[in-house]
Amino acid sequence: MISSLSIGVLALQGSYDAHLQSLKRFSVNARLIHHAEDLASIDALIVPGGESTTMLELLKKTGYFWEELQQFVHKKPSLGTCAGAILLASNVENPTQDCLGALDITVQRNAYGRQLQSSIHDGRCKFDDSDIELVFIRAPKIVRTGSAVEVLAEHDGSPIWVKQGQTMAATFHPELTSNAIVYEKWLENIKPDITALLKF
Ligand code: GLN
Repeated sequence: MISSLSIGVLALQGSYDAHLQSLKRFSVNARLIHHAEDLASIDALIVPGGESTTMLELLKKTGYFWEELQQFVHKKPSLGTCAGAILLASNVENPTQDCLGALDITVQRNAYGRQLQSSIHDGRCKFDDSDIELVFIRAPKIVRTGSAVEVLAEHDGSPIWVKQGQTMAATFHPELTSNAIVYEKWLENIKPDITALLKF
């Protein structure tokens, strides 16, 4: 069964191509989003990892895409990974910077140190007893979650995967591993008969 769900991946900077490749595991129409006008054709959006300050700069100074993106993520489902989680947050620390406010969380940027402190761990989430590979690259730490936010996975005592309604954020990079659970759970939120979206 072919689904009509259209998923956009914000393609200004960062690991957008890896998300696009990961979405090939599902029967969805996936496309890169470069301009505000592109948002009209999608049902849900992935905001990738990368460098949140660079994305902010591009969104606010080049083409004034910020307001349109803010409206989109307040109305429609989104998934932010790493820098994407920083952009979707409602408060950002270290240092303070603008964010879209789609998720009631506070994040601290670069909370685990510099590039050299980037790391890969095995972790568990609340859905599955098997390990999921957690790739952290200059990851933020979620230091506060609002009452409407559900924690889906933790690492070292901090939330690393959270959900509020149809919006999700992960401080790790699911697009760099073969485990599809983050996409599955996000898509399931949007379209409960997820089996229709699974290609195999
Ligand atoms: N440290 C980056 C930032 O603050 C996030 C890193 C990443 O997305 N891998 O935006």
